[in-house]
Amino acid sequence: MNDFDYAVATDAGSALAGQPGGGRFIAGGTNLLDLMKENLLRPARLVDINRLPLAGIDAMADGSLRLGALARNAATAYHPLVRERLPLLSSAILAGASAQIRNMASNGGNLLQRTRCVYFYDAGVPCNKRQPGSGCPAIGGLARQHAILGASEHCIATHPSDMCVALAALEAVVQVRSVRGTRQIAFADFHRLPGEHPEVDTTLADDELIEHIVVPPAQQYAAHSVYLKLRERQSYAFALVSVAAALDLDEAGRVRSARIALGGVAHKPWRDPEAEALLAGERPDGPAFERVAERLLHGARPHGTGPGSNAFKLPMARRAIVRALHTALQGTVTNAGDNVE
Ligand SMILES: Cc1cc2nc3c(=O)[nH]c(=O)nc-3n(C[C@H](O)[C@H](O)[C@H](O)COP(=O)(O)OP(=O)(O)OC[C@H]3O[C@@H](n4cnc5c(N)ncnc54)[C@H](O)[C@@H]3O)c2cc1C
Ligand code: SF4
Repeated sequence: MNDFDYAVATDAGSALAGQPGGGRFIAGGTNLLDLMKENLLRPARLVDINRLPLAGIDAMADGSLRLGALARNAATAYHPLVRERLPLLSSAILAGASAQIRNMASNGGNLLQRTRCVYFYDAGVPCNKRQPGSGCPAIGGLARQHAILGASEHCIATHPSDMCVALAALEAVVQVRSVRGTRQIAFADFHRLPGEHPEVDTTLADDELIEHIVVPPAQQYAAHSVYLKLRERQSYAFALVSVAAALDLDEAGRVRSARIALGGVAHKPWRDPEAEALLAGERPDGPAFERVAERLLHGARPHGTGPGSNAFKLPMARRAIVRALHTALQGTVTNAGDNVE
């Protein structure tokens, strides 16, 4: 590890003043410190933001929930308001990492965690995300974890977060601050596809601090939501494919509206409002769910050959979407062992 300065910020002003010039904010440190230990990141200065008053979970007057950037993932998932109003989010968080990591990981840091592409973490090989222009060994290499949607010829990495898949489905908004003032970023615009610049994961500027994540009212989905995560093993494994699915049903049992987002398949949580619109006014059944899956996976393409290929993700994703929608139809699954009837 290289030498670096360390500063503790007590308010947004001191955090923003300490950050420029090769500095980084540190929250839980569960991703940043790993990257530093592997010599993949060498910040000249760490600005510890853990004392900023951003750990609250607050109900807003319009019915939305405001999640502090420094609220821990575990505190968020188990907060009574989140469990009652946003079981999809609670469930997605609890599907990630381990209890210890969720106790440490912050909401802001979760949004900014880097890809788990094995080549990205191996400083001995090229990687366009680490070193722009150096190449992408995942293309034609080991691509089991990689994207089937929205990839580019420069990078086929996926975004690893579970929490972010639910936040995409719930149309969250990210509130950020810099010395220039504050702004809000719609979740759909927060993470990027790789395009020609895979080194840029998000639309957040280097000097911007995430303060809150606001989730609009979603009570209509609370009774029929599920986060389904398929992975190589049950713990410490990132999603091969995940699905956040939520249904709002009318008295006759037809779908008023649906929200569906996919994880593990693209450089950002994958959502297609046109696929969701296919369910509006429909009877929720197998054929309708199959049509949604087909639309969501439109344009999907695998990478690699043989055991390194991710071709298995195409049928896996189709089946996962259909299964998640069937499960949501039966009632909410919380992942906390006390499923909503
Ligand atoms: C073994 C292991 C398994 C894991 N498994 C999963 C999993 O299955 N699913 C999953 O979703 N995640 C998983 N994770 C990832 C984990 O959720 C993230 O590491 C964690 O959420 C990052 O939060 P943090 O507070 O520790 O961020 P840090 O490591 O402190 O920071 C991460 C990045 O965010 C920046 N940052 C942090 N807070 C802010 C802020 N408020 N404003 C601006 N920038 C900020 C930092 O500068 C840094 O660049 C796993 C991690 C480990 C180590
Ligand atoms: S997929 Fe992206 S992160 Fe992985 S090696 Fe290629 S450029 Fe790097």
